[in-house]
Formats: sequence, C-alpha cells, structure tokens
Amino acid sequence: MKIGFIGLGIMGTPMAKNLLGAGHELVVYDRSEEKMGEVVKAGARGAASSREVAEKCRLVITMVPNSPHVKAAVLGKDGVLEGAKAGDILIDMSSIAPLASQEVYKACREKGVRMIDAPVSGGEPKAIDGTLSIMVGGDRETFDEVYDVLMVMGGSAVYCGDSGAGNMTKLANQIIVAVNIAAVSEAFMLASKAGVDPEKVFDAIRGGLAGSTVMEAKVPKILGRDFSPGFRIDLHIKDLNNAIETGHGVGAPLFLTTQVQEMLERLHFDGCGSDDHSAIVKYYEKLCGSEI
Ligand code: NAD
Repeated sequence: MKIGFIGLGIMGTPMAKNLLGAGHELVVYDRSEEKMGEVVKAGARGAASSREVAEKCRLVITMVPNSPHVKAAVLGKDGVLEGAKAGDILIDMSSIAPLASQEVYKACREKGVRMIDAPVSGGEPKAIDGTLSIMVGGDRETFDEVYDVLMVMGGSAVYCGDSGAGNMTKLANQIIVAVNIAAVSEAFMLASKAGVDPEKVFDAIRGGLAGSTVMEAKVPKILGRDFSPGFRIDLHIKDLNNAIETGHGVGAPLFLTTQVQEMLERLHFDGCGSDDHSAIVKYYEKLCGSEI
C-alpha cells in the first residue's frame, strides 16, 4: 500500500522505517529537510510539502509535536487537506489536545476525508521494535480499515471511542508516566541520601508491587546518568498542559499532575527542556545538593 508519512523525528523515523520494512511504499515529508534523509535512504520517496504527500497517497499519517503543528500540517497552507480527496484517510499519531483532534476531525469530514486520532505510548525503543501501544479515537469503521497498518507499528491498537478519545487516553497515560517518574526520583533520592546503594534498591524492588514499565525504562537511565531523549521534558510539559486544560474543562482535579508540571517547568528554565523526562530526578538532586 502507498502511505504518506509526515513528521520524521525521534518517533516518526522508526515508525516509517517499520512501514517500509513491511513492504509498504512510502512518501514522506518533514519541514526540516535533514530529518527526511534517513527514511529516504531506507527507500521512501521525499515530498516537498504535506499537500504533495496527500496528493500522492490515499492514506496519510502525521507524527508531529503538538496541536499547532498538526493544524499547520493538515489545515494550513500546502497542508494535507489541500491535496486530499474525499474518501482518503488521515491517521494523526501525534499526542495533541483532544479538542484540537476534534477540530481537525471536523475540518477533514467537511472535505469527506476520514480521520482518526491514534497517539502512541512506548517511546523510541518500542517505535523501533514496532511494539507501540496505540490508542484510537474516531469512527470505528476507519479504525477497522487501518488496523493492519497500525499493527505494523504497534503491539496493540485499542479503539477507545469517538474523535478525541485516543488523545484523551494518551493524556491519562502521560499523567501516570510523569507522576511515576517523580515518585521513582523521590524514592531513590531518599534511599541515596540515607546511604543505601540505589542499584541495590532497584534490584530489590523491581519485581515487587512498586516495579513498573517506567521503573524498568527510566532507572537504568538515571543510574547511568544518560539523559538523552527518549521523551523530552518539553514534550511532557506540552502533554501535562493539555491534561490540566482538559481537566479544567471537564471538572476533574489533577493535584499530582500540577505538582509534577511545576517540576518540569523548573527544569525547562534550568536548561533541561531537551533532556529525557527521566531528568525529573535532577529536580530532586538540585534540592538535595547531591546526585543519586
Ligand atoms: P520530534 O520533535 O523528534 O519530531 C517531530 C518532527 O515533526 C520533527 O522532525 C519536526 O521537524 C516535524 N514537524 C513539526 N511540524 C511539522 C509540520 N508542520 N510539517 C512537517 N513536519 C513537521 O518529536 P517526537 O519525539 O518524534 O514526537 C512526535 C509526537 O509523538 C509528539 O506528539 C510526542 O508527544 C509523541 N510521542 C513521543 C514519544 C517519545 O518518546 N519521543 C513517545 C510517545 C509519543
């Protein structure tokens, strides 16, 4: 199948390469030309705009940072909707505000274009393995039609409800991840300050109830002082802002989320915005005046 792919960053590049590996023909675009190099070298055809991608493909995937980027790529000048035809499908796999997803869905529907929101969880390692967890909102029939394509990139793809439900689910995911990393950072700092070897703490508790996918993925990075992303602090700030705004809109209190958001904001102003979110530990290290 010929598939368009827009947004070839940390996530988009391995996802696009997996589609190529599964035998799909790919037309790709990124607003930064250098980001297209790796995927073009792997066999994709480069395009000059999102419009050109949509002109050439009946199925287009977007994987860009946030709501304004999706709107620019889809609704903007030289965007997907300028090139798409009625019946085409857009899968937006970016993590964006659920309300923005619904706005893009409506604009697509006016042109007869079918759109689902399908954000992912699992980060770069699972994007490389093709084992992402994919959460989907939109029309059920469209989800069913693209299920096999999603499963090239994912280990699971779950239909969550109407347009925006995929991104709503992703916000829940991002709250749990952020609060979990903060809890791990707080606990490991306590052990470290008290003179207990953090490697031993990890070995002792990872198999018990406190163990988690977050602990498995992030503690080795923390202990190895490897804060290369992964998932950047600035992207997590974006997700928690979307969660807090949505919480205000629906009347759901997000006490823990707002506290972790303040830590992330502090880290951003300390120049750590491009670090992996495991760098939440640096917030505690700064307060305590020592490294774990
Ligand atoms: P990234 O910043 O590495 O890549 C985004 C790419 O989109 C960049 O190459 C950028 O040039 C391109 N882009 C931006 N606006 C564009 C436009 N209008 N047209 C064409 N290209 C455009 O980000 P990423 O880490 O790959 O994340 C992408 C999305 O996936 C985000 O919504 C993020 O929250 C989500 N996500 C990331 C991770 C992770 O671990 N990195 C995990 C799960 C979900």
